[in-house]
Amino acid sequence: MMRQYELTERVLSYNPNADEGLLNKAYVYAMKAHAGVKRNNGDPYFSHPLEVAAILTELKLDDATIATALLHDVVEDTGVTKAEIDQTFGSEIGSLVDGLTKIMRLDLVSRKAQQVESFRKLLIAISSDVRVLLVKLADRLHNMRTLQHNSPASRQRNAEETLEIYAPLAGRMGMQSVREELEDLSFKWLYPEPYEALTAKLAELRVRNAGIVEEIGNILRARLAEAGIKAEVSGREKKPYAIWRKMQNKQISLEQLSDIYGFRVIVDSSDTCYRALGVAHSTWRSVPGRFKDYISTPKQNNYQSIHTTVVGPRHQWVELQIRTRDMDQIAEYGVAAHWRYKQPGAGGETDDGQRFAWLRQMLEWQQQLQDPQEFLRILQGYLDFAGILR
Ligand code: MN
Repeated sequence: MMRQYELTERVLSYNPNADEGLLNKAYVYAMKAHAGVKRNNGDPYFSHPLEVAAILTELKLDDATIATALLHDVVEDTGVTKAEIDQTFGSEIGSLVDGLTKIMRLDLVSRKAQQVESFRKLLIAISSDVRVLLVKLADRLHNMRTLQHNSPASRQRNAEETLEIYAPLAGRMGMQSVREELEDLSFKWLYPEPYEALTAKLAELRVRNAGIVEEIGNILRARLAEAGIKAEVSGREKKPYAIWRKMQNKQISLEQLSDIYGFRVIVDSSDTCYRALGVAHSTWRSVPGRFKDYISTPKQNNYQSIHTTVVGPRHQWVELQIRTRDMDQIAEYGVAAHWRYKQPGAGGETDDGQRFAWLRQMLEWQQQLQDPQEFLRILQGYLDFAGILR
């Protein structure tokens, strides 16, 4: 279990102005409140809020969010009241913890009509302060990481709920690595056989295509340099659930699997993105129907990037995402970027009004639409926007 000073040091490493006293107070308070209670795997209960806080330090979130993470289960699971949290930690953290307590009381995968009502409450809780959702997503991530200790029925319920609601929400918030991990953990528990078959196939391809990621990266870097383009190039194998979903949609068998490498090219201006695209298309043949320009037409969540797929060396498909540094920050951290500690003068401020427009829009629809089924249908379509690297 992470020690008190380790957590504080982590926060101070990206935010030297963090309120150390607040973090220490929240740590001790939560540890005492959960004292004597154990999780299903036998660990002290406090290890859970601590891990949730640790996940949020990876997103470099502010000290109020980290303190909220430590306290997130205190009102729901122990005798502590909201008033006590307000009094001890102030109303900012008090209302964040309250938002989480309210979400926790929702049973999202109950019958459809109730699900809509739960979703409405969830949206209201997160529209008052989006940090509530950031903590909730980290909470869900840790619960999914430790799902093997739950009963089969609880695993099924949690994995379904995660795949239907929390993973798309993480994507909507721009927290791509959280989204991917939530999807892969759900995939593993909901569809164990395809999961096993696909991960085995990917392991086999990794051996057969050893060195291919480096090879593609080197060619791309060399060609871009020849064209006088300064670029940062990184590549990787796509994640199992993203690959599987595409296989389902396009009816691709494991034997035909080819679309598994994704590359990102980061350049300094939008103009350069188009020049880099030209370099990629003159190096390799492009795959028809796979070009998307989200720079001239951004997605509703402000995501901007150029996407294309080329037939790379060894006839493997290679998906390329080309964008600027600023666009990449939004793609990676979305709303979380706003709550990250910022170096003074580092810039990167974005318009809150635009960021949260989708949330307000969903609330409006919810009020206008009489039929819960219709609302749910629209909502799911809205959350299920074309993802990153798929
Ligand atoms: Mn929790």
